[in-house]
Amino acid sequence: MAASLRLRRLGAVAAVAGGAYFTLLSNPSIASSDRGSSPNLTALKQRISDPFASVPSRSVSESTLIGSSLANPLDILVIGGGATGCGVALDAATRGLRIGLVERDDFSSGTSSRSTKLIHGGVRYLEKAVFNLDYGQLKLVFHALEERKQVIDNAPHLCHALPCMTPCFNWFEVIYYWMGLKMYDLVAGRRLLHLSRYYSAQESVELFPTLARKGKDRSLKGTVVYYDGQMNDSRLNVSLACTAALAGAAVLNHAEVISFHRDEDTGRIVGARIRNNLSGKEFDTYAKVVVNAAGPFCDSVRNMVDNEAKPMISPSSGVHIVLPDYYSPEGMGLIVPKTKDGRVVFMLPWLGRTVAGTTDSNTSITMLPEPHEDEIGFILDAISDYLNIKVREVQ
Ligand SMILES: Cc1cc2nc3c(=O)[nH]c(=O)nc-3n(C[C@H](O)[C@H](O)[C@H](O)COP(=O)(O)OP(=O)(O)OC[C@H]3O[C@@H](n4cnc5c(N)ncnc54)[C@H](O)[C@@H]3O)c2cc1C
Repeated sequence: MAASLRLRRLGAVAAVAGGAYFTLLSNPSIASSDRGSSPNLTALKQRISDPFASVPSRSVSESTLIGSSLANPLDILVIGGGATGCGVALDAATRGLRIGLVERDDFSSGTSSRSTKLIHGGVRYLEKAVFNLDYGQLKLVFHALEERKQVIDNAPHLCHALPCMTPCFNWFEVIYYWMGLKMYDLVAGRRLLHLSRYYSAQESVELFPTLARKGKDRSLKGTVVYYDGQMNDSRLNVSLACTAALAGAAVLNHAEVISFHRDEDTGRIVGARIRNNLSGKEFDTYAKVVVNAAGPFCDSVRNMVDNEAKPMISPSSGVHIVLPDYYSPEGMGLIVPKTKDGRVVFMLPWLGRTVAGTTDSNTSITMLPEPHEDEIGFILDAISDYLNIKVREVQ
């Protein structure tokens, strides 16, 4: 869930704290070429970085959406206030475009608040790049590393470096992970968060007291610790929405697109009917371009335009479980690099608890998907082999 390219250049996010709105601008670096020769660039930077700036109210945003017309449309209407939609809105607003964004529930209420909270630096692509001699994968690593650094720089109050421990139960694994992660350090260069390093079995259990030193038929040889990023995904998403609003976008939550308007002559989409889900009131908004950022629901939006449109989404559910705090120390994550069926499972400290996951199984699309027993069992099973405490589900 990398922030938009535009945010990267802007280096800005807004955070809400104690009822007042604050903005953070770590290192504003908008290039004038990003927005042509717009004279408002400096003013925009000032507005976003002003610690006393307040985000326009709902009624102001709603009036802007209602105020658009066929003759005076918005440049872009974004559907969905998750990470993608809010990133698009911020990107476009900082280019000087007139933007509207509607989210039918709350910002980040969908997938964007249910991630593993990692800002991946692309370590897994590196493995593929090396073994498949694939330059495309290497480019992905560079891109992920750059994004990770920018997101952490943009929002240091919501993101940080997190050490992640990879347990090794034979010397081959120690050498394999140590060499791989050292290569990753090298590739990261100036975007490196911290150097990776090997810890002996004794040092490892001191750092991660619940880590099992002895398994059924194996004993811990040590661990290799590397650093990735961790983020507060939902707050980061809300910050994107607030920053987009400060940059001039009309962002409205609890507002759902229920149908589209077409130009009768050309058949092009020219606007949408929107329902305010708090008041029940409906209104029309017009835009030159509509961006479908409805995440897993994007097919239902496409079906509003063409009810015979073939589905693009193949839904899969990713379950996390939340465990008590004593499962992992405060500042250290654990990676199960290969579960019995070859997946990766993370066990990460999160808001005073431990979050573990994830799964990847076919599902149907609902706003509040329920985890299945076998998915919970899979995660518990994957981590229990690595821990010296009994992992069980309490009914
Ligand atoms: C299990 C799992 C773990 C993940 N872990 C990570 C991770 O650690 N790090 C990472 O970077 N990424 C992670 N991801 C990926 C990341 O979470 C997603 O890429 C991202 O959240 C997608 O955001 P989105 O805005 O596209 O979709 P969503 O967040 O789902 O947003 C879509 C929004 O559209 C709205 N909407 C739908 N229909 C309408 C309508 N008609 N009108 C108005 N609004 C509408 C919905 O209410 C919803 O809020 C993970 C994903 C999964 C599934």
